[in-house]
This record gives sequence, structure tokens and C-alpha cells, in this order.
Amino acid sequence: MLKISLNMQILVGTLAGILLGLGLVMLDRDSSISQNSLYIANLISTLFIDLLKMVLVPLVFTSIVVGVANLRAHQQINRVWLATLSFFALTMILAIMLGLTVANVFRPGEGLQIAMFQDAMQGFEAKQMSLRDFFAHFLHSLFMNPLAALAEGHILAIVIFALLLGIAMVVGGERYRNILILMKEFLELILMLVGWIMRLAPLGIMALLLQLIVAQDITLLTTLIKFIVIVIGATLFHGLVILPLALYLTTRMTPLRFWKGAREALITAFATSSSAATMPVTLRCVEQHLHVEPDVAGFVVPLGTTINMDGTALYEAVAALFIANLVGVELDLTQQLIVFLTAMLAAIGAPGIPSAGMVTMVMVLQSVGLPAEAIAILLPIDRLLDTFRTMVNVEGDMIGSLVVQKWIKSP
Ligand code: ASP
Repeated sequence: MLKISLNMQILVGTLAGILLGLGLVMLDRDSSISQNSLYIANLISTLFIDLLKMVLVPLVFTSIVVGVANLRAHQQINRVWLATLSFFALTMILAIMLGLTVANVFRPGEGLQIAMFQDAMQGFEAKQMSLRDFFAHFLHSLFMNPLAALAEGHILAIVIFALLLGIAMVVGGERYRNILILMKEFLELILMLVGWIMRLAPLGIMALLLQLIVAQDITLLTTLIKFIVIVIGATLFHGLVILPLALYLTTRMTPLRFWKGAREALITAFATSSSAATMPVTLRCVEQHLHVEPDVAGFVVPLGTTINMDGTALYEAVAALFIANLVGVELDLTQQLIVFLTAMLAAIGAPGIPSAGMVTMVMVLQSVGLPAEAIAILLPIDRLLDTFRTMVNVEGDMIGSLVVQKWIKSP
């Protein structure tokens, strides 16, 4: 029997999802074919995402504990820490600078009237989130009862607890060898489950893309087309030029080789709009296809999933300037610097779930006195923009693992 590779199946699923979605858009929305197709697509996509989420928490926990314990045992943990955080910070800074530059050059939002969106803004209540509240909330979310964090899926708190436990296991020494072996074996088993879940990926991705296309509001898309093109263009520039360049300059890996190893995760990120749900696939790609050592990947990927978001950082900056243009406010250099800093915090603080960046954007807007309600204008198009920024967020984590591995290996 002809055996088609999973990668090929995923590409076919992607194409089929887009074509079927376009087909459904042409059909009458209330026809029974439309209704039934959407119902079935919803069942399949929910199943796929639920399965990924099922393995997410045990995977984050075990991969960090094992990764940290091994790295520390080999005296490498400090270098990895430093390299990882430097890479995350550097690429997010580049992403925001790119966002601010394109927004200043192309000035999206100019020529549009805020009154055009009055309907959308009415009845929308933005949750207040000042910088101070945000910071307090962020700090509070770092340390939690680990059982509550595991049960409720608070990834950042799980990461921190696992980090500490991994370090303690090595400081404790030989005595805790058994628990480390147990964790290693558990991690292997979870990765086996991820392999099984991935068999559903072609169908899951098809179902997600079909729904994505059907959900688009064409009128709104055309009104905001300039903003959309700028955001997607800049995000793609970061993902197709800046990040691959950083990868090539440090590791000499060509973009084509990276794409071959990374595409399962990139397509899953695009379809799910969630770096967290994609994380099991990201880790699998990084370790199995891109050959990053499990200790490095097990540390960089889960941490990156929660704090490293280039696409989100870029978006926060462009969107803030878009809203400023829309309401007719000119942001001076100091205010743009505030946007720069808050966009970075907002991206770090956003969890890897769909539209998370929209919630943390309230803080960016409020920090320079822009109306948070204006987010209501962006919400209907967010599902579309979220696809690209999540893909670049995940790409950043994968390239980060490769770069960090190279950095710590060089003398
Ligand atoms: N959806 C993005 C992610 O999961 C976060 C965001 O909304 O920007 O990476």
C-alpha cells in the first residue's frame, strides 16, 4: 500500500481545508451542507486541540525537570539560561522595532474615521489593566501551588516550579537518581502519545482552516485592508527574513532545511492560533527533525512558548499606532518608547492561547492614554492575524533552540 508521509498528509490537509472553506463560503450559510460541514469540522478540530492540550501539561513539566537536571549536571545551565533569555529579548526587540518602523512609515488607520466603528465599540467593555496592575498580576502568576497550576494549566507557574525542582534534584545529588529516571521515562511516554496524536493532525488542521475561512467578515476585512496587509507583511518579514537570517548566521542552517524540519509545528501553529496547544508538536519537531538535544529543547521550547512571542510583540506595537492614528493622536518619541517597552511586557505576559495578545494590549494602549475600547475594532479580524503571529511565535522558539544549542557548544 502507498504510504504517504505525515508531512505530505499535513500539506494536503492544509490545502483541502482552504479549498473546502472557500467552497463553503460560496454556499448558502444556512444550507444543511454548510451547517453539517461546520458541525463536523468543529468536532474534529476540538478533538485535535483537546488531545494536544491533554499532553501539554505533563510534557511541559517533565521536559523542563529533565532538561534542567541534565544541563545542571553538566554545568551548562548558566550558559543556557543566559543564551536563551538573550535570544528571546533580542528577537523581540527586533520585532517591535520592525513593527514601529512600518507603522510610522505606512501610517495605518489614517483616513479612517473612528465613527465608522461605533457599532463595534458600543457594548464592549475593555477590562482595565494598568502597567502597575499588569506587573503585579504577572509577578503573582509566577509562583503557585504546583498542583493547582498543573490542574488548571497555568503554564508559566508550571515552568517555574519545574525549573526549581530540576535544580533541586541535581543539588540533592545521587539520592534522587530514581526520580530523575522516572521523569525521563515519563517524558518518553508522553512523546510517544504526541506521535499518536499527530496522526490526527492532517484532519484537525483541515477542519481548523475550513472554519477559519468561513468565519471571515469580508466587509470588515476590506475596510481594514491596509492595516491587515501591514501587520501580515511585517510579521512575514520577521519570520521569513530576520529569524532565518539569525539562524543562518549562527548555525549555517538554510531556511529550506529549517522549513522541512519545522513545518509540522508551523502549520499547526497557524491553524490553532495557540503556541501552547502547538508546544507538543514544536518539541517533537525540534528534537526529532531538527536534532536539537533534548536537554536544550526541553528547556528552551516550553519557556519560549510562554514568554517568547515575536509575532505578538510586533503586533502590539503596530496595533497601538494604528489606534492612535484612528483616534487622531500623534504619539511622540517618548510615548513610542513607552509603547516599545509595554509591547515587550505584553508579549511576555500573554499566554500562548488564541487572541491572548488582544487582552494584554489593553495595557499598551492605556500606558499612552489611548482608548482601550478601540480594541473592539480589531477583535473581529483577530482570528486571521493571530494565525500569522502565532506561527512566528512558534518559529522563534524553534530557531531559539537551534541558536542556543550552537552558542553553548562553541567555546
Ligand atoms: N495566539 C498567540 C500565541 O498563542 C498569542 C497572541 O494572541 O498573540 O502565541
